[in-house]
Amino acid sequence: MGRFDGRVVVVTGGARGIGFGTATRFAEEGASVAILDLDETAASEAAGRLPLVDGARAAGIGADVSNGASVEAAVSRVVEELGGIHVLVNNAGITRDNLLFKMSEDDWDLVMGVHLKGVFLMTKAAQKHFVEQKYGKIVNISSVSALGNRGQANYSAAKMGVQGLTRTLGIELGPFGINANAVAPGFIATEMTDATAARLKMDVEEFRALSAEANPVKRVGFPEDIAAAVAFLASDEASYITGQTLYVDGGAKLG
Ligand code: NAP
Repeated sequence: MGRFDGRVVVVTGGARGIGFGTATRFAEEGASVAILDLDETAASEAAGRLPLVDGARAAGIGADVSNGASVEAAVSRVVEELGGIHVLVNNAGITRDNLLFKMSEDDWDLVMGVHLKGVFLMTKAAQKHFVEQKYGKIVNISSVSALGNRGQANYSAAKMGVQGLTRTLGIELGPFGINANAVAPGFIATEMTDATAARLKMDVEEFRALSAEANPVKRVGFPEDIAAAVAFLASDEASYITGQTLYVDGGAKLG
């Protein structure tokens, strides 16, 4: 018996990277999983690769988490196609890095829109169902960059915003049987960090090796590392934990 048998889990930005790793973990543990991503074809293709357990189903749904109408339509489709919603993982993300003096207003708005407004919109749409059924788990993906990172004024502000939002969700939704927590990853090997390597004109392997050297456990993280923490926080074992942010970073920010 899996920890998520009979549950419906939504993972935003689930077509690849941390989101796909997380969707895979929930599927392995018995959940039906909806992958939401910008591109419906990519979302459906990823949903088709999930290792579903008997009786579980998957859906791939195109949605832009920064757009209210798109989010409302996507959450309605999840409930219609998979029969409900019990866990929401707010993972979709983008970067538009630049030093402050070169950062455009558009790059600020885009990053805030996906990371911060996206979590607000998705959570607002899902909580209606959660409150009605007196059950729900929300796990938001923050970042070690919330603590400050050169070239990421927009991203770090959004990711610290996610932590504040998570605490407030914990306070407001706790009485309705809903837990809200965040996971703050350190360096995770995905297309997002590969793109950072390219921007810095570094070889991907060299960039990963440098990042591994910068933390006490001397390795980079993988989507599975984040998936394990998300699954724990979304499980009933974690029902006395809410409003928290768990850093999963190999100890990178210990000092
Ligand atoms: P990734 O490989 O770039 O995947 C992000 C996914 O989100 C992509 O499939 C992307 O779709 C999707 N997406 C982007 N904008 C969206 C929108 N408006 N609506 C719906 N989906 C959208 O990134 P990742 O490395 O797995 O990161 C996942 C999360 O972890 C992000 O929130 C990121 O900030 C956070 N994080 C990552 C790291 C790391 O080291 N990788 C560290 C800390 C935190 P497209 O491909 O169509 O753009």
